[in-house]
Amino acid sequence: MVVEFERVFQAAHRLSGHEGKCSRIHGHNYRIRAMIEVDRLGSDGFAIEFERVKEIVDRFDHRLILSDHDPLILSFADGSLPGSFPGDWIVEVPADPTTEYLARWFAETLAKAVVAENDQARSVAVKVELRETDSIMATHLVQAQGRGE
Ligand SMILES: [Zn+2]
Repeated sequence: MVVEFERVFQAAHRLSGHEGKCSRIHGHNYRIRAMIEVDRLGSDGFAIEFERVKEIVDRFDHRLILSDHDPLILSFADGSLPGSFPGDWIVEVPADPTTEYLARWFAETLAKAVVAENDQARSVAVKVELRETDSIMATHLVQAQGRGE
């Protein structure tokens, strides 16, 4: 069984280790397409509930995604930048939030969620396509062992 979910979210980010214009804060209308394959549905009849997928994707919606080693994080935290904003506006990730990084994060996080929520599946595969712009998209595939007997 394969189920597919698509969702759009808006987020800002910057690549602190990048020399070009991507080092400046800017935004994207991200489009995520997740294909989830399980050999068996959970006892609730779902591969995984769409609400769970939405929660995972929406962690980034209308937020600023920064790497946790971005010097901007410290500036925001100590209030040294004028107009600092609440910490929950920022999502910190352990690396520069490239399309590639985010696609992998979504695939790994969704795979863990399917394994946690689907009590019957023995095998789980999650493929994520994350489109950042019309010309840039990253795809990542994760395969995991489920909890089913
Ligand atoms: Zn960008």
